[in-house]
Amino acid sequence: MQAEIDLQTLTMAQEFHGHKCPAMPQGLRAGRLALELLGVEKAQGGELVAIVETGDHHFSGCFADGVMFATGCTMGKGNIVKKPLGKFALTLVDRQSGRAVRISAKACRMMQCLDMEFFRLRAGGLPPQKLDPAMVEPLIEDVLTRDPSEMFDVQMFEQYPLEAHKEDFTAVVCDGCGELVVQSYAHKIGDKAYCGACLDAMLHCGA
Ligand SMILES: [Zn+2]
Ligand SMILES: [Zn+2]
Repeated sequence: MQAEIDLQTLTMAQEFHGHKCPAMPQGLRAGRLALELLGVEKAQGGELVAIVETGDHHFSGCFADGVMFATGCTMGKGNIVKKPLGKFALTLVDRQSGRAVRISAKACRMMQCLDMEFFRLRAGGLPPQKLDPAMVEPLIEDVLTRDPSEMFDVQMFEQYPLEAHKEDFTAVVCDGCGELVVQSYAHKIGDKAYCGACLDAMLHCGA
């Protein structure tokens, strides 16, 4: 399990992500490692589900973009779940077999990273795209070449509990705002149907 990331994948992922940093490639490798451990390919549809534990507004949140790019679990497909625990971990679930793997970044390595100049500058308010590439490139190289066993802890699950969802292909026009709303998100009141926003407004205005 080498979780190798080729140059083309890295370049495309950096283009998608918007800047060069070490956390996104770390997510790429975590995602790749998860695929290899489950013996599956990157998701084309909703066959895989990724649960990422990064939160918002903290260092290395970019990890989640690497995970999305590597696994094909994306916001639009609805097969990425953000479980904001402020942790650097990914659980990848294969719906068909029910098997899953949780990959978490080793604490000792993350702590070493936090001591680096890169993080001091970031903590001081410098955005990642403004950092000297000469400082960032070696960090990216390190993340890409280090043995996965030095970076991640791995836990396998033979049966991971996950709800089954059917895709909804029906929709109604909201009687409040006239916008289209997917049926399973609409609320019926008598013979009228309302979107969540209109329902909220009605309830809070006492109409
Ligand atoms: Zn980044
Ligand atoms: Zn509405």
